[in-house]
Amino acid sequence: MPQAGIHGMVGMAAKKMMGRAEWLALGVVLGSFIPDMDNLGVAVATLTGASTEGIHRTATHSVFFIAAMMAVFYFIGVWKKDARWKNLGLGLGLGILLHSLLDLLIWFNGVELFWPLGGEINFWANITPPEWWMKLMDTAEFLFFGLYLWALGSWARKAGVDSEFMGKHRVWMWMEFALFAIFTPIFFFVEKGYYSIYGALYLVSLFAVFFVTIRMRKTVESV
Ligand SMILES: [Zn+2]
Repeated sequence: MPQAGIHGMVGMAAKKMMGRAEWLALGVVLGSFIPDMDNLGVAVATLTGASTEGIHRTATHSVFFIAAMMAVFYFIGVWKKDARWKNLGLGLGLGILLHSLLDLLIWFNGVELFWPLGGEINFWANITPPEWWMKLMDTAEFLFFGLYLWALGSWARKAGVDSEFMGKHRVWMWMEFALFAIFTPIFFFVEKGYYSIYGALYLVSLFAVFFVTIRMRKTVESV
């Protein structure tokens, strides 16, 4: 699992360069989060006892998924006669692409960029990271969700928007920092039995951050 919060922040940085097309920036940031929602599939497979192989970093990280996403939103835009949906689709495509490329660079795993054609790309194939690093990567998911929300909050204040949502925003932000503080010692000092609880809370966080971003779209659009 790469740090989804980093993806979100890179998405925010990329959107700064993108001008003012409505919903384009929102698409880029949301697109940065979408690929790792395949972990939901991993969770379902784990719960049902099915194989978790070939679920993560495959379909949702693929160029064909990007093309399909952009096509779907393009046609929604045509159907609704509203160019914002096309912008959103373009943004989602860019965000997902950015995410997949970033995944190749960070965190020791390959990506099936051309799924379902196969051919995993892995720059890290010959490197086995130390165990403590892998643990830190998992627990740092919460840290980076928190940092992403913190950045979103400071942008909202600067732009003077979404002020009515800041109470709830703060709850989610501090919950992420708290989860990081709780799970870091657990990962290092508890033998086993916590990983599915961690996985469930990770998924809740990922979807929460996704919907908080939609709720705070004025902030995203104002940066
Ligand atoms: Zn990913």
